[in-house]
Amino acid sequence: MQFGGRKKKISTIPQSELYGQHLQFYGQPPLENISLSEFETFAAERLKLLKTVENLGVSHVKLTEPYRRKLESQLKALNFPYRPDAVSMFPILLHYKCLFPSVSQREDLRRWFIQQEVDLFRFHFTELVPKQQLAFLHKNNLHYDTISSEEKTALKDQLINSSFGVSGIKVMEHEFYKVPFQDALDLVRLRKVYLKQGYAYIPHQDIVTIVLNDFRTRLSKALALTARSLPAVHSDERLQPLLNHLSHAYVGQDYSIQKNVGKISLDQIDSLSGKSFPLCMRQLHQSLRENHHLRHGGRMQYGLFLKGIGLSLEQALQFWKMEFIRGKVDADKFDKAYAYSIRHMFGKEGKRTDYTPYSCMKVILSNPPSQGDHHGCPFRHSDPELLKQKLQVYKVSPSGINQILELVKGMHYQLACQKYFELTHNIEDSSFSLNHPNQYFLESQKLLGGGKDIKREMDAPQRSQENSASKGSTGTQEVAANTSQHLAEMTEDLESFFQEA
Ligand code: SF4
Repeated sequence: MQFGGRKKKISTIPQSELYGQHLQFYGQPPLENISLSEFETFAAERLKLLKTVENLGVSHVKLTEPYRRKLESQLKALNFPYRPDAVSMFPILLHYKCLFPSVSQREDLRRWFIQQEVDLFRFHFTELVPKQQLAFLHKNNLHYDTISSEEKTALKDQLINSSFGVSGIKVMEHEFYKVPFQDALDLVRLRKVYLKQGYAYIPHQDIVTIVLNDFRTRLSKALALTARSLPAVHSDERLQPLLNHLSHAYVGQDYSIQKNVGKISLDQIDSLSGKSFPLCMRQLHQSLRENHHLRHGGRMQYGLFLKGIGLSLEQALQFWKMEFIRGKVDADKFDKAYAYSIRHMFGKEGKRTDYTPYSCMKVILSNPPSQGDHHGCPFRHSDPELLKQKLQVYKVSPSGINQILELVKGMHYQLACQKYFELTHNIEDSSFSLNHPNQYFLESQKLLGGGKDIKREMDAPQRSQENSASKGSTGTQEVAANTSQHLAEMTEDLESFFQEA
């Protein structure tokens, strides 16, 4: 890709070489023509891939056979071909470099991103046979050579004594790399290698350490270098919305089209919030019931979630009004100040856009709650002590709480939420990768009876609501689904309607 002002270059590297394998140092940006939609799709696919790597890295011991097998099968299932792999790194670099104004957010993400990329790289590298590894190193200007059998025989005793876990048989069977001492400082520091005349002799299984260090350094530099493109990116009206969207996007279903509009009655919400709402929505619901009010961040997050699980416009208006008039807002003020924004959320006002419920990524990364707010992700935004108390109130076992807090400490917020799901649903393995609060809800309902809960409860006294809901359903389905490129823009527009005076 090209940024403004640069001369167009033609790639001299054949595509087969650029996209011939998964293992890359990503030193050469793609210089072919790539459409913006491909650019965006590849980036979203890569985020999905990295999320899978993260999930497995937490649920399995890295480098063990079960970890490798599971990662291999999941990568196969994701089916991420070579070309998107090679291309997708570049929008992702821009994405991480550009979007997060807060230094701590950027630092969190930078570390997360590099860690997942390094784990993925390690997997691909260790999948190669030694000959392919050597070829890869040479291709990337890491001119390390393996020593000959004669040299191995001459240094056999020193190699056995200096290298970890190497026996006489292994010395003769496996390759040893001769690497400049300064490139192997980590292994030297750990006294894991034999040193002679400025060279470290590295057993085959340890060469990956050096390559990974190199990869990590290159990636960090690439992120730093990306900063140079920022002025061009910020002024490029095509790229900016795309990158913005990526930060809020979540990979998978966006829950913008509700299939069960009107299938949930207002009476069910209290019970559903305890059984099937993720913690973020459970806490919003609870504080709405307690305070009869939510500030705009909470109304946005919770309102769109409720819409996503199937509340019709009429139900939403009734739900919010009933609660608000129990507090300091009278019916007249509600109709004037709040009803419009709810209709707007359902695409009945303004640009008539059908808004999409927030993904976990959006909740976690944008608009952190401040004093008096109840929105956000409790796993990301709550103080650990407060989170612990909340979990205790929700009857999570002490060992479960510890597991959750460990995941939170490692910044695995969605995995912590998934653990909460498993503990509260009494299952060992939730077997889905959590990306969205509405996905949490659907998975929970599936588990608790394939959504029969909703239908069964609905059958009883809710006929009148069902009827009015079905009217809302028709209206809602008329609204066309959004194109992803407009999403961020539209959400910002909606947010402005929710701002309190
Ligand atoms: Fe909500 Fe997602 Fe956070 Fe879970 S991880 S609490 S679903 S935002």
